[in-house]
Amino acid sequence: MNLRSGRELERLHEANAITVETLHLVAREVEPGVTTHHLDRVAANNLRRHGVAPAFKGYHVQGAGRFPRSLCVSVNQEVVHGIPSRWRRLREGDIVGLDFGCIVGGYYGDNAMTVPVGEISEEKARLLEVTEQALHAGIRAARPGARVSDIGHAVQTHVEGNGYSVVRELGGHGIGTSLHEQPWIPNFGRPGRGARLAPGSVIAIEPMVNAGGAAVRTRRDRWTIVTADGSLSAHFERSIAVTDDGPWILAEPRPSGRPPKED
Ligand code: MG
Repeated sequence: MNLRSGRELERLHEANAITVETLHLVAREVEPGVTTHHLDRVAANNLRRHGVAPAFKGYHVQGAGRFPRSLCVSVNQEVVHGIPSRWRRLREGDIVGLDFGCIVGGYYGDNAMTVPVGEISEEKARLLEVTEQALHAGIRAARPGARVSDIGHAVQTHVEGNGYSVVRELGGHGIGTSLHEQPWIPNFGRPGRGARLAPGSVIAIEPMVNAGGAAVRTRRDRWTIVTADGSLSAHFERSIAVTDDGPWILAEPRPSGRPPKED
């Protein structure tokens, strides 16, 4: 695992702050009738304003080709990697996953959130809440000396304790001077395994949580991952740095000498 210097962490802080700022701008545009293409335009325009490049546009995956847009937009049973479209309009009661990244001076930001479209059912609101809580359970486990699988264990325990499933095929990852670096961070597993985290470790933690079964499949567009059983799915992600002062959510100010928060 790469360990990043203080100067590198400042760059990563900048990239992730712009990423989350953009996600919030996009989330403000989410309402019934809006196309997913419009959301992508809002995201791309904000990066242009900052003069920085998107991380996902042109991202190449073997067998899928290059991702054509800046923002991933995944609605309802779509788990991740939904492609924005002029023909896809959001509807009242949908939930919409927004996944976004950018590159500042060679350093990457990568963050995601799932938001409601208008009024949503209590059942959907609970799925969003549990998934965001699972993200923070994972983040709390990312402290110096912990192992990579401690994160997935914390995520899985919270998710399954609430009656939902974690997606197995996809997970978090190291991040820094490329979007996806070692190690892979599964959202499940027994604790005490895998690489040991140290101050300067930088990782993206991103639970993908299904209301039904864990199984997923890829649509014929070769990008969009959907739940196999058609159940709803939610996704939250934050890139963080491991520090002696606790996990630094890189989109936010650095934690200042306070001990990491306990459960
Ligand atoms: Mg990611």
